[in-house]
Amino acid sequence: MSMVSGSTRVIGLLGDPVAHSRSPQIHNAAFAARGLDYVYVPLRVAAAALPAAVTGLRALGLRGANVTVPHKVAAAGLLDELDETAALLGAVNTIVVDQGRLRGFNTDVAGFARALAEVWGGPHAGRESPTADAEGSAAAPRALLLGAGGAARAVALALADLGLATTVVNRDLAKAEHLVETIVAARPRARLAAAPLIALDAALVGAHDLLVNATSLGLPGTGKVPAALADNVLRGQVVVDLVYGEGPTDFLAAARARGAGTVDGLSMLIWQAAAAFELWTGVPAPVQVMRDAAERT
Ligand code: NDP
Repeated sequence: MSMVSGSTRVIGLLGDPVAHSRSPQIHNAAFAARGLDYVYVPLRVAAAALPAAVTGLRALGLRGANVTVPHKVAAAGLLDELDETAALLGAVNTIVVDQGRLRGFNTDVAGFARALAEVWGGPHAGRESPTADAEGSAAAPRALLLGAGGAARAVALALADLGLATTVVNRDLAKAEHLVETIVAARPRARLAAAPLIALDAALVGAHDLLVNATSLGLPGTGKVPAALADNVLRGQVVVDLVYGEGPTDFLAAARARGAGTVDGLSMLIWQAAAAFELWTGVPAPVQVMRDAAERT
């Protein structure tokens, strides 16, 4: 990192906790690689202090911020304007301070789509589609999305915009139904359905081309991705796990062993960071530098 001076532009990370975050190493490596006089600083902010912290971005002349757990929803109500994606999701992960105006974005949607694009070419991309019919012609691509929390909402929007028909499976079925209603209200042509966790079985899993874990299952201290999903992955499917840590999660390792293509949570983290970097700086993100930095834990 170059020397911080009076002209250095400052980006904050507003969250609680923030000490574990890989975003400072990702962004500071990217600023250095592009020769930009920027610095990225984790700022632990308690929920009660969030309004003061957001107003303080303007008062202190910061260029912007990332927003992470647990503030993404609350931050959306504190800004001067939201882009279409942030407004639709009611959640912000990136703030840009533009001539005193606080502008909110949600780059998780683009982050997911760009990470997926590294592996996913749709069911016609030379893979053996598990949903191909007897003549071998593939049906419209279908995604099974496990989870209906904040991350799942961003994924569901990205999938709708990519034209995939999506089944949202969640422990709390009402939350899955609400997610489906929200996306369909904004994207009337989107094809989404909700299903309870108990509906997960080999037939349901096998009827989809893309399988996404957007729950916290797989994080240390939480449960495992249900066996009804992990044990029924088919060769030729693409599996995405938003959870990331050291190396592949158990779910991704099992999916790989079963012959699926895989996308890890670190890829989504890097691509959402790349989109935020571009909003703050107007400069193309050095994605490989960011990936290398993220992997240096
Ligand atoms: P939320 O708290 O908003 O949602 C949690 C989800 O996990 C809900 O669907 C919840 O189901 C489900 N869940 C939790 N515990 C269980 C359980 N024991 N059994 C079944 N389902 C369970 O969290 P987020 O959506 O913000 O984050 C989810 C994950 O995604 C986290 O691991 C987070 O780190 C990761 N993430 C990764 C990103 C990346 O860039 N790679 C970006 C954002 C998030 P229910 O509704 O029934 O409670």
